[in-house]
Amino acid sequence: MNYIFRQKQLATLLRRGGFDALLVTHLPNVLYLCGFTGTAGVLLFQVSDRAHKATFYTDGRYDQQAHAEVKSAKVVVGKKAAFAEACEGAQKAKVRTLGFEADHLSYSAYKQIGMTVRGKTRIKPAAGLVEQLRLIKDGDEIGQIRASVLLAASLFQTALSVIKPGVAETQVAGELELQARRAGAEKMSFDTIVAAGPRSALPHGRASAQPIPPQGFIILDYGVILASYCSDMTRTVHAGAVSRSHRRMYEAVKEAQLASIAAVKPGVETGEVDRAGREVLKKAGFDAFFTHSTGHGVGIEVHEQPRLAKGQTQKLAPGMVVTIEPGIYIPEEGGVRIEDMVLVTETGHEVLTPTAKDLITL
Ligand code: ZN
Ligand code: ZN
Repeated sequence: MNYIFRQKQLATLLRRGGFDALLVTHLPNVLYLCGFTGTAGVLLFQVSDRAHKATFYTDGRYDQQAHAEVKSAKVVVGKKAAFAEACEGAQKAKVRTLGFEADHLSYSAYKQIGMTVRGKTRIKPAAGLVEQLRLIKDGDEIGQIRASVLLAASLFQTALSVIKPGVAETQVAGELELQARRAGAEKMSFDTIVAAGPRSALPHGRASAQPIPPQGFIILDYGVILASYCSDMTRTVHAGAVSRSHRRMYEAVKEAQLASIAAVKPGVETGEVDRAGREVLKKAGFDAFFTHSTGHGVGIEVHEQPRLAKGQTQKLAPGMVVTIEPGIYIPEEGGVRIEDMVLVTETGHEVLTPTAKDLITL
């Protein structure tokens, strides 16, 4: 990973924003800038006219790990908590304008900065600076994401082989997660969703103890974290004979998903991608049942920028990795969602998820 390049880009953003330093407290951002994968660490990132300096603070528990992982930053293992040490570092460096990650800092931590620098430093909120850089994935990141997507996709058959009427949703999730770990995943990207029968109408139906009914849709939505990068995919399968209305629901979602994917290319607003799928569902009379946005960015975090939703004006650019995941949810009846990960390329897009989307009946 090219940490120096990322740090140079961040330095440019900070100079433009009138900051002399940034306290990076959001761990995915710390990982992005210097490679630390632990759970206690703060990066104090200072800039001057031409140079920048990164100091990574952690505590004794992470001494070895920090020295092994952290690149392009000085490692300080303090006696106090990493955050307290980083604040003191800023105070000693006599930083004039210190940025903090406004979306990722508690009120008490914010007050702690003020008490440490005691009025000699201006404390200024900085929101989304590192996130802005993380929007565009570099070649190394795209390689990791591909591997994560392929690992997740390879587990789909495992899940299918476990799904049978009477088997609890949690059992399906458990088998999937066991196989994920066996294949080398660090963990799941989020709590695995297995939602069968009427529960498939819950867009976020985490696997429950409920048995799979003999009839109806089953939504499987899951992903793995491999070498710190997430994947996220959804397929919907059907138990028992498929009624005409269920067939119509499924085909409408599939068509909507393909329409949104087709709209993905550089320069297109994310709201347009959302609209393309929503139009298809509207024509089929299902738009009222599509109750969430079309997708989100994926990278170090499973939900990151950009948002693909109604009215969003952010433009797609090469190197973005997004999900396309329209759905239909009819209360008490059931739901359908199909989700792929898609890379924005120079000329259009590449669908990363290799799994077929014809309706599978079990
Ligand atoms: Zn998902
Ligand atoms: Zn998703």
